[in-house]
Amino acid sequence: MKILVLNSGSSSLKFQLFDMPSKKVLVKGLAERIGEKTGQFKANDYVVEQAMPSHKEALELLTGYLLQPENNLIKNKNEIIAVGHRVVHGGNTFVQPTLITTEVKEKIKELFSLAPLHNPANLTGIETAEEIFQQARQVAIFDTAFHQTIPEKNHRYAIPAKFYQQGIRKYGFHGISHQYVSKKAHEMLGKTDSKIITLHLGNGASATAVLNGQSFDTSMGFGPMNGLIMGTRSGDIDQSIIFYLIEKEGMSPQEIQNILNKQSGMKALAGSNDLRDIEAAAAQKDIKAQLALEMYAGAIKKYIGNYIAQMNGLDALIFTAGIGENSDVVRELVSQNMEYLGIGIDATKNKNPKNYNGDITHISSKVKVWVIPTNEELEIALQTYKLIGQ
Ligand code: ADP
Repeated sequence: MKILVLNSGSSSLKFQLFDMPSKKVLVKGLAERIGEKTGQFKANDYVVEQAMPSHKEALELLTGYLLQPENNLIKNKNEIIAVGHRVVHGGNTFVQPTLITTEVKEKIKELFSLAPLHNPANLTGIETAEEIFQQARQVAIFDTAFHQTIPEKNHRYAIPAKFYQQGIRKYGFHGISHQYVSKKAHEMLGKTDSKIITLHLGNGASATAVLNGQSFDTSMGFGPMNGLIMGTRSGDIDQSIIFYLIEKEGMSPQEIQNILNKQSGMKALAGSNDLRDIEAAAAQKDIKAQLALEMYAGAIKKYIGNYIAQMNGLDALIFTAGIGENSDVVRELVSQNMEYLGIGIDATKNKNPKNYNGDITHISSKVKVWVIPTNEELEIALQTYKLIGQ
């Protein structure tokens, strides 16, 4: 059965076509600069520069590619049995993969205020796919859903209760990724009562404590700026800074949002949000880059300590996403001085985790340390396949 997975951004559309249950990827691609004068569409090795006024034209290009007889993918559109959509915010409503109906779309719209950058684009993707793949079942997989198991003691803020009733609470993000890698780790540990910390370190970054297979706490909160230091986001800061910027600098909410979201993090500390640049600069003894890396790893360590204390132990520490999977420097910095907590990595294995099936655990380490590549698209395909029950 063929399942199409879509991840729609405001000006982009990432897609993968899976054959399920074999999990084989038949097509992988990306449409970029949708709505701009020039756009680019890529599917496998096929690349075309073409303006795409909206997501519709992007999906039409994809359909054209899929139907090309020489590509040998599908003979007609009805072969796409389901489309799985990544939706960033599911609020308190969506805790499971959900078949999309008119009511579901209304609810996703109601959640626009909680994810103004993402949910509108996700809904556009859904509506366009409904138009183009009319026979297919449309399924929403929410990035917040995995974190809905976080207990109240960890998802509430100590602010007046009326705000909680309005929905101000920790939601957490990157749930599809944390779920995918923690499920793998849980299986690898081979026991039901597992204690895992997953570190999703990409442009955005978050840490999650996964207790017995369920999300128990996570570093992002009501929005995706909290927690770890990220490419351009600040992570945890003292709230007083915001009031200072309003009162003393006369800044507007939008200006502050822009600073904390787009001008902060590694970009503010080291002048780049690409970790490769920062590592190269640090190797050349650039003091700013060295400090930035130390702070980046330090923020992660604070969460590791927090979660070990909360779970009363740890079985496995997981590194994933662009930085987690590729940066031996960050993995090394995070794992340093953790002997007391039973965490240690092997320097040789850390240089080349792929040669060791991702297992970089030091022989003396109580805790397993694994590099597990994330695959959000596959997780969406798996959950979609499970929901439609075939
Ligand atoms: P996104 O959150 O946009 O999906 P990714 O998971 O692709 O991001 O991660 C992007 C980050 O991964 C960037 O900071 C990039 O510098 C970093 N990265 C990618 N490859 C490497 C590498 N070989 N070494 C160090 N960092 C890397």
